[in-house]
Amino acid sequence: MTFAIQPDEVLARLRSLRADRDAPTKGGRVLSYVYDPGVPELHRLVEESALEVLHLNGLDPFVYGSLAVVEREIGATMKQLLHGGEDVVATCTSGGTESVILAVLAAREANPGKRRIVAPSTRHPAFAKAAHLLGMDLEVVPVTPDGRADVDAFVAALGDDVALAVVSAPSYPHGVVDPIAEIAAACAERGIDVHVDACFGGMVLPFLPDVPAWDLAVPGVTSISADLHKYGYGPKGASVLLQRGPDRQRGMMFADADWPGYPVATSTLLGSRQAAGLVAAWAVLQSLGTVGFGELQSQCRRISDAIRATVEGIDGLRVVGDPVGVALAIATDDASDSLVDPLRLGDALIARGFLAQAQPGLRQQGQPDLPSTLHLTVTPALGQHLDALLEALVEASEEVRGVPKATGEAAAPLQALDGVPLDSATAGAILAQVGAEDLGAERAELIAIIEATPRSVIHRLLVELLARELGD
Ligand SMILES: *Cc1c(COP(=O)(O)O)cnc(C)c1O
Repeated sequence: MTFAIQPDEVLARLRSLRADRDAPTKGGRVLSYVYDPGVPELHRLVEESALEVLHLNGLDPFVYGSLAVVEREIGATMKQLLHGGEDVVATCTSGGTESVILAVLAAREANPGKRRIVAPSTRHPAFAKAAHLLGMDLEVVPVTPDGRADVDAFVAALGDDVALAVVSAPSYPHGVVDPIAEIAAACAERGIDVHVDACFGGMVLPFLPDVPAWDLAVPGVTSISADLHKYGYGPKGASVLLQRGPDRQRGMMFADADWPGYPVATSTLLGSRQAAGLVAAWAVLQSLGTVGFGELQSQCRRISDAIRATVEGIDGLRVVGDPVGVALAIATDDASDSLVDPLRLGDALIARGFLAQAQPGLRQQGQPDLPSTLHLTVTPALGQHLDALLEALVEASEEVRGVPKATGEAAAPLQALDGVPLDSATAGAILAQVGAEDLGAERAELIAIIEATPRSVIHRLLVELLARELGD
């Protein structure tokens, strides 16, 4: 065989790229994106089961029948876990975004002529993407300062043209659960479908005590999404969408026999698809069972509570709302006269070996604006570094106390561009002008610029930044 580069050399280069450029995927010090159970037997199970099916084509469960069994068993487990009755059906997808797009598609098909989606301002961007792709309008209602949907504003936004109401369990930014029962009751009265976005916490909440009803046991909830590639501890590529009534699900599926090729029927968005994520998540579900999951997920709650107590003991900081135990958001405590900026805190934590996620504030109508925050997703693997993290939080707060919030001054000239279409060359020039390339290390400044820039402009600049990172 003639190789341009020997396979071993390609592998060596890959390993060196990973070593130079990647955040760790295990160990719990990266406080977003990756979910490490911290259990070596599970790491091995995930890796070996994924490898086992790496070359299957998930397109056709009639040819690769093991996948049909896996999807059925995942569906049965999730229905039981999330209190789905006889009338609930499951669809396995490649991730939260795909589950959300399919839930919106199902709602559109089940509600002909209705175009509006109502969701709190903390909704995941996947709903904006779904609305954009599917020709729907996303109407955002405010959340109260504790991060939960404002029920009065939500109910006031309901109407005959609403195809879907969306709530989160919990929301990603703050890790707090929306008032789901109240909103679902108001929607049920009006015959409006309700989606619970439990992509983040759907695998955790069933195992925590004292969580108000949030799943399919709540009357009025018509669909729910839960990611297995987060707290199901599978590798990326696994999520589940549960829906009430088989016809809602069938309406979102697709078939085409109107070509001279193989007859196509798909349950999700993709054609040929990778099965490894789902199969590995299934392996974890099977192996851990509810008792094993209960042990891991209670650890998340304990870690989250410990972080919360420490943050609340630091003058100048507070935790947003009442986080349920999967993630929390740290904000400045404006009641203190010894302010700590959470984004400066985040930058100071990096030097101490913890990568938390900087989140911009958000303008709201009808409720106070939301402050910028530092987001921490907690995972069982963080347990081994918990004392170090608590100490780092205290020390880093002392270090940045009194350092003023970044101003985002570089965004001032961008105000005039609101609504102006930007081509790629212009967007690139603006990125250079605001010094975007150097901002990676100064996240407080970057987030301040994002906050201060008009939405249309920032969306275009983020697209440009990504496109250039991935190519030209
Ligand atoms: C992660 C997440 C999503 C989207 O999921 P992806 O798997 O990243 O596509 C949607 N909603 C919430 C609340 C999430 O946390």
